[in-house]
Amino acid sequence: MKLILLGPPGAGKGTQAKFLSAAHGIPQLSTGDMLRAAVKAGSTVGKRAKSVMEAGGLVSDDIVVDIIADRIAQADCAKGFILDGFPRTLAQAAALDRLLASKKTALDAVVAMRVDDDILVRRVSGRYTCGTCGSGYHDEFQKPKKAGVCDKCGGTTFTRRADDNAETVRTRLMAYYRETSPLIGYYFALGKLSVVDGMAEIRAVTIAIEGALKTVK
Ligand code: ADP
Ligand code: ADP
Ligand code: ZN
Repeated sequence: MKLILLGPPGAGKGTQAKFLSAAHGIPQLSTGDMLRAAVKAGSTVGKRAKSVMEAGGLVSDDIVVDIIADRIAQADCAKGFILDGFPRTLAQAAALDRLLASKKTALDAVVAMRVDDDILVRRVSGRYTCGTCGSGYHDEFQKPKKAGVCDKCGGTTFTRRADDNAETVRTRLMAYYRETSPLIGYYFALGKLSVVDGMAEIRAVTIAIEGALKTVK
């Protein structure tokens, strides 16, 4: 299954992609995670992306399309994948279509997750991650069972993203509405779009996405 999770920052794409990845045995491809790894490694791509990401803008299409083309070519993507945070522009969407067509395949579904703006700002501002295993948490909405200890791996160090502050979130939301939200119309016109309520509880959102996927498969 080849799936796109589409939605603004904080919609829950990463949270749901992890569940779907485990349930379906296909990898989560997060361009945000890949770009942050490149920044950390200090690679050429990382150097080009760093300041744009810190400011909450979009990294150029050629960079992210190259990253995804390389990633999709790897063996673990043969059965499918979940795209989380890509495509983010119409140019990226068109490049993805060409890429998949060249491999004689196509997307199965695009799931758009809808969440109100004020909730998005709260979600992103309170987001943090286990430094050991990468599990996602939230100050208000998804606390670990024992404060300061990761449910999954027992880790006790956590990280927050530099761009997850209320000010940068607003810039990122603007980028979403300007550059990414037209993709909703693009995929609707292709007959691939499902929309789910991303304001529901985490488990309920997973169930809604699985329901949407049943109708396409
Ligand atoms: P979020 O999960 O909050 O939506 P991401 O982790 O997906 O954020 O992305 C973080 C940042 O990485 C974005 O603000 C942007 O600068 C950059 N980025 C990630 N994916 C893309 C993409 N497909 N196109 C352009 N920039 C991207
Ligand atoms: P995205 O990848 O779309 O930027 P995340 O999956 O990282 O979003 O979720 C943003 C924050 O909101 C995380 O801290 C996560 O724990 C929390 N979150 C995700 N889904 C929900 C939900 N349905 N209800 C409440 N909080 C959620
Ligand atoms: Zn952990």
